[in-house]
Amino acid sequence: MRADGAPSPVGVRGSRSSRSLRGLPKAHLHAHLDGAYPLGAVRELARRRGRAFDVPTAFGDVWEFFEAYGTVPDLVETHEDLAVLCRSLVLAEAAQGVVYLEPAIEPQLYAPRLGSLDQVTRTILHAFGEAARDAGIEVNALLTINTDEDLPIAVDLARTAAAYAGAGVGALGTAGFIEPGGLGRFREAADIARAAGLSLACHAGQTGGPESIEEALDELGARRISHGFRAVESERLLKRLAADRVVCDVCPVSNVALGLVPSLAEHPAPRLLAAGVPVTLNADDPLWFSTSVTDQYEIARKVWGLDDARLAHFARSGALASGMSAATRRRIEDGVDAWLREGSES
Ligand SMILES: [Zn+2]
Repeated sequence: MRADGAPSPVGVRGSRSSRSLRGLPKAHLHAHLDGAYPLGAVRELARRRGRAFDVPTAFGDVWEFFEAYGTVPDLVETHEDLAVLCRSLVLAEAAQGVVYLEPAIEPQLYAPRLGSLDQVTRTILHAFGEAARDAGIEVNALLTINTDEDLPIAVDLARTAAAYAGAGVGALGTAGFIEPGGLGRFREAADIARAAGLSLACHAGQTGGPESIEEALDELGARRISHGFRAVESERLLKRLAADRVVCDVCPVSNVALGLVPSLAEHPAPRLLAAGVPVTLNADDPLWFSTSVTDQYEIARKVWGLDDARLAHFARSGALASGMSAATRRRIEDGVDAWLREGSES
């Protein structure tokens, strides 16, 4: 580790550590609710609807992915359906060693069938709260505006987020596939969230270049970037992200599955890390990509050859999430230290 806390840049390929990656206390900050339910829970709901549910092994293109993604909210017909899925998600994530979970929720996907944004949000947050207590972890929602589609309801979504700020909602998110996303159009929504004490986590630097990340920082004052891997295309931006401690919540398996990065080995995350940018590892849509947050750490160890000190950096960066309680922050920081002390690398 360097004195400033950032890991030194070069990893040794194929670290042979046997420390358990499930045992590393993690924050999972970039997982879309409707793409993260456990497969068994979705299959059970589909069975009750008399429908089959399968996850394709690959997607021809992103449009095929979006079409598939929409089939899960379509299965949900009652508040209890939604609550069962939400509870099962929290328990499954806790089993991966996640101690802080911030699912990106889009109540607007369920509101047409289940009622108002507020009613749907209340159901989701209540289910999260119950399961979080059972699992002994902290869960806050990242209430998310889809910037490709939600402009007409953006302010309503921000008001809904603000109503539950610090009471189940941890931050306001923006997500969209078109980048730069014209984020200036969402400034009013961002201001409402900020006035309620919520910070912003914006999708950028996934399909768009550095300018999309700068847009999120400059137009909405984002404190976290969902993806952000294309920051490596600008030295100036890398320096800015590192200096301002803006966290990039990257999702390696997702980026490769959607054809945005040619291979896991070529994923830019280690370069972000080497530049001193706080980076977390995330699964994005674990249901659709048949992956988990722990798998991303496995990739960092096996494919990128990062040692445990660097893996610890990813976990520690999760503690920068603003919606997290001080107790959970301490739990991650102390837990990561304890994990590093446990045994030695074999
Ligand atoms: Zn995402």
